[in-house]
Amino acid sequence: MLSRYYTYSQFENYFGSVVKSLNGSILRNLEIGQSVLKRSVYGLKIGSGKIKVLAWSQMHGNESTTTRAICELLASDDLYQIIENIELYIIPVLNPDGADAWTRVNANKVDLNRDAVSLSQPESILLQKVFKDFKPDYCFNLHGQRSIYGSKDGIMPAQVSFLAPAGDKRKLFKRARAQSMSIINDIHKKLEKEVSGIIGRYNDDFNINCVGDFMMSKDVPTILFEAGHSGFDYSRDEATLLLTKALKIAITSVSNISSDHESTWTNYKAIPKMSANYVDILIKNYKATSGNQSLSIRYHEQVKDSCLYFVPVLIGINRKEVLNGHRVIDLDQDQHFKNDLIVTGDLEIYSESLNIKIFAN
Ligand SMILES: [Zn+2]
Repeated sequence: MLSRYYTYSQFENYFGSVVKSLNGSILRNLEIGQSVLKRSVYGLKIGSGKIKVLAWSQMHGNESTTTRAICELLASDDLYQIIENIELYIIPVLNPDGADAWTRVNANKVDLNRDAVSLSQPESILLQKVFKDFKPDYCFNLHGQRSIYGSKDGIMPAQVSFLAPAGDKRKLFKRARAQSMSIINDIHKKLEKEVSGIIGRYNDDFNINCVGDFMMSKDVPTILFEAGHSGFDYSRDEATLLLTKALKIAITSVSNISSDHESTWTNYKAIPKMSANYVDILIKNYKATSGNQSLSIRYHEQVKDSCLYFVPVLIGINRKEVLNGHRVIDLDQDQHFKNDLIVTGDLEIYSESLNIKIFAN
């Protein structure tokens, strides 16, 4: 399996070897265009079924989980069984420059998921060209989300989430949207028991510049996949396997869409909405002169010498919206704690007994 961070040339080598091991007779792998910094963007077509599915991943460069899931899918023993009725077009990394630099944006600092109408970037133009030429029946828009989302009550983290984007400002329940919801419901039903967190539902506010909303506005059922975070899965290995399963379920369920719109709507609405209420580390009951405090710490991701580092940063004290942490240290309960925690005036935290050195934002 690829690791969470890879240089783009590491990705090219790995993807090349995955593609090589596939059955060549039904496969076309091409450089379909180039990024701002002239890196190759690849497109892969596989299967010869009647239903066309277009999937693209890593349009946000620092969201690699779904790209890794695509590689896992392509290496699966049951791949040809899964795509029996499908012609699948995959763009594994739409934003190679962002992937290499581990940034959300491309090399011109543009968020490609806000460029669907402006089409100011070569990568956006490329995706639209594939969309127009391939004429997909379904689109899978593959992303990863930060470790900040949980259930509304903050008890469970959001390990994966989905959205059937609105295709217009009034968020109407039209055919294309109903079909997306039906697929999401299928994934939810089949994966629910396997997640340690929750399967969440993403915000559906309409923005025509977001690629998924744009494609839905063209009446093509589109699904947003968001690989999430649970526990200490900072490598996102668990999430990769979960997203591989989600992709397999989604691909098989496009040939089995529910036509019962009422139950589709009800089941979709029953998937819990997420809230941004998690931090990576939550320190409770720090005794300040003003009283007990809770300290919210979030990891900032930094790539240095081809390695991804998680740098803990104090983002606030007693923040109301923060309900939980992937690691919670309660200073009243933690036996390793020797009352040596120091929060400086500059909001930096030190504790030798807890092995903590955390920097302010
Ligand atoms: Zn994204």
